[in-house]
Amino acid sequence: MTNADAATAASILTIDLDALVANWRLCAAQAGVEAAAVLKADAYGTGAARVGPALAAAGCTRFFVAHIDEGLALRAALAQVLPEAEIGILNGFMRGTRRLLIEERLAPVLNDEGEVREWLAISADLGQPAPAYLHIDTGMNRLGLALADLTNLAASPEMRRHPWRGLISHFACADEPGHPLTELQAGRFRQAAALLPGTPLSLSASSGIFLSPDYSLSFVRPGAALYGINPQPSRPNPMAPVVRLEAKILQIRDIDANESVGYGAAHVARRPTRVATIAAGYADGYPRSAGARGSAWAGETALPILGRISMDLITLDASDARTLRRGDMVELLGPHRPVDQLAEDAGTNGYEILTRLGTRYQRRYIGRSAATGA
Ligand SMILES: *Cc1c(COP(=O)(O)O)cnc(C)c1O
Repeated sequence: MTNADAATAASILTIDLDALVANWRLCAAQAGVEAAAVLKADAYGTGAARVGPALAAAGCTRFFVAHIDEGLALRAALAQVLPEAEIGILNGFMRGTRRLLIEERLAPVLNDEGEVREWLAISADLGQPAPAYLHIDTGMNRLGLALADLTNLAASPEMRRHPWRGLISHFACADEPGHPLTELQAGRFRQAAALLPGTPLSLSASSGIFLSPDYSLSFVRPGAALYGINPQPSRPNPMAPVVRLEAKILQIRDIDANESVGYGAAHVARRPTRVATIAAGYADGYPRSAGARGSAWAGETALPILGRISMDLITLDASDARTLRRGDMVELLGPHRPVDQLAEDAGTNGYEILTRLGTRYQRRYIGRSAATGA
């Protein structure tokens, strides 16, 4: 537990670090090669300062984040458990960050030809190769070197001599089995790899790992799957649930048929209804777009969501849960309502649900792995 105690908690976010570690092991087993771990956006909202040490204690040695600031925070969090951890910065190297990157041994993922040339100049200046990755864009057209850029660069001996920590690329459609872009990207990646023989290669993130081991190469880079998101939405989810969100019932009231509930009178009761109002809302990252969709859960009883989601409150149909009392907790996310289900109800994906979870919840880390980094 991090702050205050259960009595003061309006809502509790529980993160099961053993489940997370098990998911990382499953990714590595499925891929058959080293699994790095992607902890950008504060470990997809679950708390990099706790997730990093738990994974390091389990044997993970390579991590990726998006921003340099995230890398610095992770370096500090890993100082006791694994000071030599490799931390890659996906967003690359920006002017004015050289000293920090070198001192804190953060390895930028270089995305741009100019960026690569600057990094080679820095290495020449230091008299030793500064650690970095290369990112080649094979069809996402978002971030990364074009194949032509890499071809230009590979003409220089310093480029070919540099011991790159890895050459990576990222799939656009690996969550859709059979999508033609995946093989096209893999083919372009093989062409790029041929320009820098001996460089470790990495192509798959969560979806790629569970699409095919053909894309495992030297190491894989799971993010979403670690946190329990289904890497292949068209198949049953092999990942263990990591996040559980519960909120406290603030009030229970009985309303007559034809009474309305909440803003916009958006829900009108068809029958006499017991309404439970709970302490969570869109200010906590519960999506407003999931109003009137899906259910919260009290044990095995579904409590359908009634009407609109308010800033701090959600209203539930508790007619079938007569034993519920003010102060009881109900489940909004967890084994009965997986992240992917809430995402579907909200018209988004699990990534957005997790990364928007607010800071208002009381956070608890459970599992034996929670002993590290506490
Ligand atoms: C975010 C990201 C990952 C992790 O992707 P998931 O789908 O969350 O597994 C891996 N590699 C790169 C380059 C990324 O940006």
